[in-house]
Amino acid sequence: MIVVMRKNSKEQDVERVRERIEDMGLKAHISKGSERTVIGVVGNLDRDKLSLDPVAILSTDKSVDRVYPVTKPYKLASRENREKDTIVKVKDVVVGGGNFTIIAGPCSVENRQQMIETATGIKKCSAKMLRGGAFKPRTSPYTFQGLGEEGLKLLKEASKLTDMPIVTEVMNPKDLDVVLKYADVLQIGARNIQNFSLLKLVGQTDKAVLLKRGMSTTIQEFLMSAEYVMSEGNGDVILCERGIRTFETATRSTLDISAVPVLKKETHLPVLIDPSHAAGKRDYVPALSKAAVAAGADGLLIEVHYKPEIAVSDAAQQLNIKEYCELVKELKKIAEAVGKSID
Ligand code: PEP
Ligand code: MN
Repeated sequence: MIVVMRKNSKEQDVERVRERIEDMGLKAHISKGSERTVIGVVGNLDRDKLSLDPVAILSTDKSVDRVYPVTKPYKLASRENREKDTIVKVKDVVVGGGNFTIIAGPCSVENRQQMIETATGIKKCSAKMLRGGAFKPRTSPYTFQGLGEEGLKLLKEASKLTDMPIVTEVMNPKDLDVVLKYADVLQIGARNIQNFSLLKLVGQTDKAVLLKRGMSTTIQEFLMSAEYVMSEGNGDVILCERGIRTFETATRSTLDISAVPVLKKETHLPVLIDPSHAAGKRDYVPALSKAAVAAGADGLLIEVHYKPEIAVSDAAQQLNIKEYCELVKELKKIAEAVGKSID
């Protein structure tokens, strides 16, 4: 952090600011220029002082002109803190570290046949984990809300049959215990990305957490949400860009493909793309999926249904098994071109 003192500040003003810096456990490096004094602040806040906001505290001093933060507000999630990519292991599946991992499955768990047919179909085409929502965050309270625990049981049955770990959303802290009984990865949906009490709770579990970027969440806010989970002791966080809200209405959301290189620079956590919720229409899903591989994402979270035409939620954006398998063939070529493999 750089503290720029006001032009007319005196020796005792600089000393007072130095003391405030040192009281927070940080170090002050003072440079006196011909016009102004600039103080470089280095060091990390002690754990018991993490709630302090040094930029805000120092900005209140009457002799301080400006304060520039140079370190990131997210600590555990930042590349500054850990250079090496985090690899999240879920049973035998790895996410991150040069692998391209496909998580596929329907939007909602609907019934036994749907789950078994979809899971066995995607398993043949490189899917490594099975997704499906049993608690659904629907815009309307009058539409299908998910089967709850019944849905989790169906997910489990399909997961056992195909040997694919389960990724499923937990929406409400009161459902966490039941979701924990079945899920291998806890999904936090776009609408809950800043539900900080839910983030803290999943941070206290030993399950990997898949965080979906909110539709109006900046990348910095997204990483602060990851920080909430990690600060509770759970470092197994997977990020997922799923489109943000812009003025464009041709697609359901606008896939922020630049989030991939930005996140790759800012954090060591794995980054997935969800082309389905971004596109909202199945025709656009292949192109966005290909862009994800080319841009350096660590995998996809993609909606596939054995019969999308009868899906009870997100019917327009789900691929059928054949479309999905054809897409994976294409993705393999792009993966090879960028030095990754999809097996
Ligand atoms: C989902 O993946 O099922 C979902 C509801 O997505 P999002 O939270 O990104 O809207
Ligand atoms: Mn969906």
